[in-house]
Amino acid sequence: MNAIPDNPYLLLTPGPLSTSPSVRQAMMKDWCTWDQEYNQLVNAIRERLVTLALPESHDVSNDYTCVLMQGSGSASVESVIGSVIPNSGKLLVLANGTYGKRIGQIADVLSIDNKVWDFGEQGAIDLAALEQQLSGDHGYSHVAVVHCETTTGRLNPIEQIAKIVKKTDTCLIVDAMSSFGGVPIDVAKLEIDFLISSANKCIQGVPGFGFIIAKRSALTAAKGFARSLSLDLYDQWTCMEEGGGKWRFTSPTHTVRAFDQALIELEQEGGINARYQRYQQNHKVLVDGMRSLGFKTMLNDEVQSPFITTFYNPTDAGYQFQEFYRRLKLKGFVIYPGKVSDADCFRIGNIGHVFPDDMERLIKVIDSELYWLA
Ligand SMILES: *Cc1c(COP(=O)(O)O)cnc(C)c1O
Repeated sequence: MNAIPDNPYLLLTPGPLSTSPSVRQAMMKDWCTWDQEYNQLVNAIRERLVTLALPESHDVSNDYTCVLMQGSGSASVESVIGSVIPNSGKLLVLANGTYGKRIGQIADVLSIDNKVWDFGEQGAIDLAALEQQLSGDHGYSHVAVVHCETTTGRLNPIEQIAKIVKKTDTCLIVDAMSSFGGVPIDVAKLEIDFLISSANKCIQGVPGFGFIIAKRSALTAAKGFARSLSLDLYDQWTCMEEGGGKWRFTSPTHTVRAFDQALIELEQEGGINARYQRYQQNHKVLVDGMRSLGFKTMLNDEVQSPFITTFYNPTDAGYQFQEFYRRLKLKGFVIYPGKVSDADCFRIGNIGHVFPDDMERLIKVIDSELYWLA
């Protein structure tokens, strides 16, 4: 299976990513928004997302809810950070990449008291130090962390972090943008208060909105905290709850229809576990193939996510990322530039409507395009 010929290339990026033809087809109508049929679809999507977030905890599904929020993934992060922390609160951000740092930037812009604990782009979150920091009277009301730090592809140990944070009765916010839907996460078991993801990552929809899985009691407690009107999470939630799935302002109707289709296809694939296995397979074909061609990964395998991988650029004279990129794009594959400040690297994503044989084709193409070795 592959995305050619109806698309010029496969997107091997962490989102927007390659979607199935049927997901794209769902957008080819002018869907209405202010009616019951649409609102019911929205509520069904919210319920299905809660179910996906509680694979082992269906019995407590009433304690959790889901809010959809217009905008890119960062808008949903901003909605949570700006809506759930009281003026008297203080946020600790555990950061090891751009997306962790962005949470701190959001807090700064919104004048929310915060500390970004930066472990370095290539560093691991120091669990012992975190435990130490959070013992005693630490003064933080909220801790935020990124699950898969897309900057490098590192999967932060969310289970252990959650355990440490929740021992201290602190509100836990997880940016699971590039992981949710691609790896099993049980929000109730980990006692996550707010988990954020978006339509165009592992659920394999198109861009236009994000979603927040929230513990009802934590969201209820946040009434009146919002620092923005259009990103007011509590208000968006009450509108959806009381309006039977109604959005406050214009909703991305086409994106929502595509997302509904993407959720059907996730189910048809066998759910999150099956998708996780496909991504792991994609990733294995990619990394084994790249290593056989002499490329080196930045991260150790133990901390590497099966979603996106950072490779060092070859140091050979004559190699240029832009030229390499251009050649691969012509042959049907779009890869991703690096984002690590002190390392010369690029990234390849393997999430989306892509399959192990696509990765095998990619490796063959790369093998034929090692032009700097010629
Ligand atoms: C994609 C992503 C985001 C959101 O990025 P947008 O460009 O705003 O959609 C946030 N956090 C992580 C970890 C991501 O991978």
